[in-house]
Amino acid sequence: MDSISGFLDKINSNIILRDYEIPDPGEDEVTVMQHYTGVCFRDILTQQGFFPRVSLPIIPGHEIGGTVVATGKNVTEFKKGDRVASLIYVPCGKCSYCLSGNENLCPNKKSFGETLNGGYSKYVNVNKNSLVKIEEDVPDEAIPIAACVTGMIVHAIKKVGKIEKGNYVLITGAGGGVGSNAIQIVRALGGIPIAETSSKWKDEELYKLGAEYVVHADDDYNKDIKKITGDGVDIALEDVGIATFNKTLRSLKTGGRMVVIGNLKPDPVSLPLGLIILKGNSIKGSISSTREDLKTALELNARGLKPIIGKKIRIDGINQAYEDMLNKKIFGRVLIDFS
Ligand SMILES: [Zn+2]
Ligand SMILES: [Zn+2]
Repeated sequence: MDSISGFLDKINSNIILRDYEIPDPGEDEVTVMQHYTGVCFRDILTQQGFFPRVSLPIIPGHEIGGTVVATGKNVTEFKKGDRVASLIYVPCGKCSYCLSGNENLCPNKKSFGETLNGGYSKYVNVNKNSLVKIEEDVPDEAIPIAACVTGMIVHAIKKVGKIEKGNYVLITGAGGGVGSNAIQIVRALGGIPIAETSSKWKDEELYKLGAEYVVHADDDYNKDIKKITGDGVDIALEDVGIATFNKTLRSLKTGGRMVVIGNLKPDPVSLPLGLIILKGNSIKGSISSTREDLKTALELNARGLKPIIGKKIRIDGINQAYEDMLNKKIFGRVLIDFS
């Protein structure tokens, strides 16, 4: 089983295409044949050298799923023909985090596209501990983004943000691959989404997706949000970083929670501690998703939650796609089509 696959050979260099023959799966692995894989902003940060643990050369990408075509000898949970979605990492399965269902925090996890070959290849070997079987009718486009986008958002809003019915949820960077999907997920979980975008041409799409209001990074949107909500939002899903952080913090109501999930430009932010104390606000990080979140995500997809896909490309369009993502030209997720 071979295919033209994408490789990152050097930091700050283009993705190079080469023929790649997938090895037989290891004892605890299956070989997954992908229909689609997702292209994530994290892949670009990896290319730019922000993930120092990356072992080069590597097949980038971590948004993996498809159909099982081969199984290792210790694998009894999955068989050929099963449809599966993968976490974006392989948990160790032994530490206290893994044993308590918090495998997203496993300190020993290995990440696809960084220390393990990842998704920019039609065939990927995946450890069984990363996989969830898809029993229901889930569209192929939803599978690669179930862990890194849908499940990650579910984890951030439900488990970390503790959403309740009727909560206002601000989503920054709402026109991106994560934010655009978050609008619908907030709705599906009973919240009222307010979308922030720096690209005004995306407003109409954001309203179509279910945003109650759209605010803009150029304005003092914390003031707009106070007008809209009265006191501020219950939860803010912060997916941008330094460009929006302070306005987002000032958009929270008393007791409101900020959940930080993205950091496009890895610069430190300044924290107005007095404000946080006076308003009893919390700021929490949320990373990735667990198998439980992945199952919830796939259930939401089976019940009609649609993945927001901005563009489908062939593998040879990957470097152009990075360019377009960096220039904010794409609304929704980019998928590489291997069919
Ligand atoms: Zn991702
Ligand atoms: Zn672990």
